[in-house]
Order: sequence, then C-alpha cells, then structure tokens
Amino acid sequence: MQNHMTKVAIVRCEDYGGERVFDAVKRAIDLVGGIEKFVKPGMKVLLKPNLLSPRPPEDAVDTHPEVVRAVVRLVKDTGAVPIIGDSPGGYGKNVDEVFDVSGMRKMAQEEGVELVKFTSSKFVDGIPISRYMFDCDCVISIPKLKTHCITVLTAAIKNMFGTVTGVYKAECHSRALKDEDFAKTIAKVYSVSKPHLTIIDAIVAMEGDGPSAGKARKMNLVMAGDDAVAIDAVIAKIMGLIPFDILVTKEASAMGLGEADLAQIELAGDDIGTFVAKDFKLSRATPLRFLPRPVAKAIGNFVRFKPYIDIETCTGCNLCKISCPVDAITSDKNICRINYKKCVRCLCCHEVCPYKAISIRRNALTRYVWG
Ligand code: SF4
Ligand code: SF4
Repeated sequence: MQNHMTKVAIVRCEDYGGERVFDAVKRAIDLVGGIEKFVKPGMKVLLKPNLLSPRPPEDAVDTHPEVVRAVVRLVKDTGAVPIIGDSPGGYGKNVDEVFDVSGMRKMAQEEGVELVKFTSSKFVDGIPISRYMFDCDCVISIPKLKTHCITVLTAAIKNMFGTVTGVYKAECHSRALKDEDFAKTIAKVYSVSKPHLTIIDAIVAMEGDGPSAGKARKMNLVMAGDDAVAIDAVIAKIMGLIPFDILVTKEASAMGLGEADLAQIELAGDDIGTFVAKDFKLSRATPLRFLPRPVAKAIGNFVRFKPYIDIETCTGCNLCKISCPVDAITSDKNICRINYKKCVRCLCCHEVCPYKAISIRRNALTRYVWG
C-alpha cells in the first residue's frame, strides 16, 4: 500500500562548518526525495532566507549564509540557476545593510549568485507578493528557527510573510490586531506564496524575545520538507509545545494548507528525541497569548506587557517608527518615544529594531504569575 504521509526530515549538524552544513542539507533534502525532485535543469530558482535585520550570523537573527550556500550549490549541481531574495523588516530601508552584515552578500558574491530585493509585486487576493515568486520556476524557503513575540515561533510558514512587499506588512498588523486574525493573515499569505521546498536552519536557533532580541540557542538541527505546516508542527514538538496551540499552524491546517497532526507526519533521519528542548525559552510576551481568550480577556487589564525604548541604545534610525501600524512612535532629535495611548502592543517595533533598543516590559503581576 502506498504511504501518503507527509514527510519531514530531521538531520543533526553540529556547527556551521561549510562541508558539514552541505552534507547535512543534502542529506535532509535526499530524505524527502532529493533536490532533483524539486529542481530541474535550466530552472530559475528563488532561495528565500529569513533576513530580518543587519546582524552578524552569530546573533541567530538571520538565516546563516552557510546554509544558503549549501542550497545554492545543490541547485547549481542540477543545472539550474539560483537567485537569493528577501524584504527585510522596515520596508527595505536598510536592505543593503542587512545583506552586508548578515554575510549574505559576501556569500552570494563568492558563489556568483544574484542577490535581489523584493520591491515590485503582483497582487494576489489583494496581497502584494514579490514578483520573483512568480517569475521563478521553483521557490526554496530557508528560514531560521526563532521564537516570535507575536506568533510564538517563526519558521516555515511565517518565513513566507517576507514575500509581502511594501507597507502592506504593517497594514496587516493594523487590520488584524487580534492574534487569531494575524495568524489567519499569515496563513493566507502562505496560501498564495507557497514554496516548493523548505529547509530550516536550526543549527543555532533563537530563544527568548525573538525574532530579533532573543538569545542564540544551539539546536544542531537542519530540517527539510515540502509541507511547511508539517515542519512547523514538528518544530512545536521539539520546542515542547502542542502544534495546534500555535495559532499560525492551527489556521494553516484549518485552511487545508498542510498537515499539523503529528500522527500523520512521517519523520525521516535522526531521532527527534535527541533534539527535543522542553526548556526552550519563549518570548516574555507569549504566556498571555497561550491563555484561552475569555481568560485573557478577563485578566487582560491586569496582566500586561509593553514595548520600552532604551534611549541610551536607540540610534534614531526610525525603523520602529515607520513599522508601527498605528503611528504610536514619534521621534524628535533622534530620540524615539512611544505613545502608549495609541500603542496596540503588536510589538512590530521590537521585531524590527536592529539594535535591541526595544525590550518587552511586563507589569508586576505578569512577572509574578509567569516568573
Ligand atoms: S528604537 Fe531606536 S534604534 Fe531601535 S528601531 Fe527605533 S529608532 Fe531605531
Ligand atoms: S509602538 Fe506599539 S503599536 Fe507601535 S509597533 Fe510598537 S508595539 Fe506596535
């Protein structure tokens, strides 16, 4: 009888040494059918890493260039042409800096691969998606595994939100202030911007206040699969979470975009038990997001968190200001301030700040309840 279970590959990789990463990425892809299953000679192949901020690879904010290099080489070996592209936070204002500091430009130059910015778009269901998604014959998503202050985790599904261009990302936040609505938006973007293959860089992941202000956490893990929902479900298990508790995974599953039931997912490669990290630290904003809605509503007035700008660390780059969906941030003489009467606690500013100048502050009750 034919096995129709969706497959997710899990492969151990201890560090970012070039050969070890190549071997691990190749093995992971081989376990889900091999690169030739997805890429044919002559194809133009878009590689979509997660490039959020101008941070060096050791900070674990952006996908590590060695993981992308491994995919570049595998794609080239098939006789196809890879290109690398993304639209970092802050609407591309600092995209060149992100390419430089993340090490992606250097790697792309060494490999002779074009590095492109997601600027022009095509509207699909009212969402502006980068034209490269449609101009390329194949799309390979290469996310970094990180915690996320809004969506709990960011990995396979959320990485495709980065194919949305321009100010629409902020509009998504202002239109979808409830976590459930934002999760639906991300799932919808994924439904119109689906990769053919996903490779997860979790050799060093991010825990704590991700996706940009958390701490690097060694996980020694590379994953691969063609079902992003299944990959995120397996990641939830590794992080000691229940897949359907992650709203983005739940909504994507409800929309029929993939398999989130672990019983229906076939694992291939190394033993998942050796990667499970139940002590994986989530964002300080996460506990409230896990509460049932009536409970959250009932105690919402007492249990609070808010973004806080450290003016000593702030450089006045204004990325937070242009990313705020409700114009709650003002800047005067290079000093940014938050108008908490307007702030809707979406934490977009915390996500995009390249200098860790925005922290998540919790009130005394929140600290008492969740430590
Ligand atoms: S807090 Fe300061 S450094 Fe951070 S994004 Fe805003 S302006 Fe830039
Ligand atoms: S100031 Fe408030 S509303 Fe604006 S981006 Fe930050 S958390 Fe969101």
